[in-house]
Formats: sequence, structure tokens, C-alpha cells
Amino acid sequence: MPRILITGAAGFLGSHLCDRFIAEGYEVVAMDNLITGDLRNLEHLQALPQFSFVHHDVSTHIHLNGPLDYILHFASPASPIDYLKIPIQTLKVGSLGTHNCLGLALAKKARILVASTSEVYGDPLVHPQTEEYWGNVNPIGPRGVYDEAKRFQEALTMAYHTYHGLETRIIRIFNTYGPRMRLNDGRVLPAFIGQALRGEDLTVFGDGSQTRSFCYVDDLVEGIYRLLLSDYPYPVNIGNPDEITILQFAEEIIKLTGTDQKIVHQPLPKDDPTQRQPDITKAREILGWEPKVSRAEGLKITYDAFRNLPNDLLYKQEHRDFKAYSK
Ligand code: UDP
Repeated sequence: MPRILITGAAGFLGSHLCDRFIAEGYEVVAMDNLITGDLRNLEHLQALPQFSFVHHDVSTHIHLNGPLDYILHFASPASPIDYLKIPIQTLKVGSLGTHNCLGLALAKKARILVASTSEVYGDPLVHPQTEEYWGNVNPIGPRGVYDEAKRFQEALTMAYHTYHGLETRIIRIFNTYGPRMRLNDGRVLPAFIGQALRGEDLTVFGDGSQTRSFCYVDDLVEGIYRLLLSDYPYPVNIGNPDEITILQFAEEIIKLTGTDQKIVHQPLPKDDPTQRQPDITKAREILGWEPKVSRAEGLKITYDAFRNLPNDLLYKQEHRDFKAYSK
């Protein structure tokens, strides 16, 4: 049975990856410091003999007994307003955390896949974004703590590949959504659905003409699985190219949820990218991957999951003061 370490395992993507690798017959070691992760995302796996959980912050040295075949490094805050709240931890997990994971991979002769991001392209001047584009990032802006940590992560990962011959994979993840996102993490989909469920107006930042392209989590997990098992060491974009403005997105959520709340505008946060759409030619050619779940289907599944959440999560007061995030 191959053994895999998944960091950030109690988070949104990490927990879906645990499910997938358990289903594929792996022994899964799940690691998380639970700053933004939630053990409820892993509850259903706890009793399985091939699953174990380690409460640890990967920004400090990682010690793990026994052999290891693969590492997926997914530990990181992933919401812009989390970066503001915990900027130093965000920088540390992308840099020191990555260093510790790479060192562990080297010691165990394991293959490692690191979670990078479309944020390495910053506010992109090239559209759609190909892997060849170097990006347009403000290093000292509010998003710099995430973007630069992830850019450093890519550089460090490539250095381990070229210098040590380590087997490395780099995925650049575009906006992804699905069940188990934190309802109040501040990202746009849980924000809008949470507002609709609580009977609040939907807060569109700026005029809502900025675009994003949303990928359903199952499609992303399939892309990660294929990339890990491929032999391609360079960055690959995984995302759904179906681009939409944030205003249209708010209108879709209003229709989906049947809420009679309206759209209200709030100031656009600093350095908010004006457009984002993945060019997935590489994923198609190298991995034979493309997204299968339409936004209509994915949003319905996600809404059904969110509306069954207990009230304490629905009304939890984290990150509800959006003004703090504005210019
Ligand atoms: N956004 C919004 N209202 C919200 C939360 C986010 O209009 O309540 C916008 C945000 O300004 C951005 C887009 O939605 O343009 C996506 O934001 P998110 O934080 O989900 O992710 P990003 O792609 O910016 O990292």
C-alpha cells in the first residue's frame, strides 16, 4: 500500500484529497495545525486503519516515522482576508513549510507535489494565463504574503528538482469551490451563499466587473491525481476556463438560492486582480485532463451542502467585517 503525507489535510482541498487517496488504496497520513482547517472535515475517515492524523505545524521541522512514497503540500491559508489576519504564518508555510516538506521528501525518497496558485500571476497582464507568463505581483501589497510565498515555493521546489534530482510536481490552482469551504472564510462563493442563507444582502466588491473562473473541487482533485502520477516537473495550471464577472456570479447565486436579498457594492480591495482565466492547454495535452462539472451542477451540490450546515457555522463571526479588507 503506497503511503502519502497530505499537509493541510483538515482544510477544504486537503480533506477532499484524503478522500481520494483513501479511495485509491493509499495509506494516508494527514497533517494540519488546525489554524484554518477543521477536524470535522476528516471525521468520517478517523476510524479507518489506513488513515492517521498528526497535529503539527509544517513550518517547523517535520518528523515522521516509517517509509513515505508521496507528499502533497497543501497547508496554507487560502483566502485574501486570512492573509491579512495571519500574514506571517502565510509567508512561513509557503516558504519554511515548503522547505521542510522538500527536506522530508528528500530524506524519504518520496515524490512531492506542491500546491501553487494562479496568484503567482498577480493582476495578470496576459489573458488567459499560460504557464509561461511570469506574472504581475505587488510584493508589499496585502496579497504579497501569499503570492510571494508561493513564488518562492515554486523556485525552491525547482531547485530541489535540479540540484537534488528530487521528483517534484507543481500545480497552479485557480479559484476552486465545493463543500467544506469555510462558510465565513471571506472568499466570494461562501460569502455570497452565506449571505443568502442568513438573509443578508450580497456584497459585491467594486463594480463587479472583475472576472474569475471557478472550478468544482472534484475536477481539481482529478487534475492533482493525474499530475502527481505524471512525469512532468514543471508548473501546470488546473482550473475551469469558464470565466464570469463577479456581478454575474452574484446574480447566479441569487437565482440558485431564491433569496430576495439584493446586491450591495463595497469598495474593491487593494490589488484585487481584474481578470483571471486559466489556459489549460498543458493540462489537456500532458494529463489528458479537463473539467467535467459545469458551474450550474457544482453550485447546486455546494449550496445543498452549505444549507445543511449547523447554525453555529452559519452565524460564526469570522471575517464578516469586510471593510477591514478594503483599501
Ligand atoms: N468578492 C466580492 N464580494 C465578497 C468576496 C469577494 O465581490 O464578499 C470578490 C473579490 O473582490 C474578488 C472575487 O470576488 O474580485 C474573488 O474573491 P476571492 O476572495 O474569492 O478570491 P480571489 O480570486 O480574489 O483570490
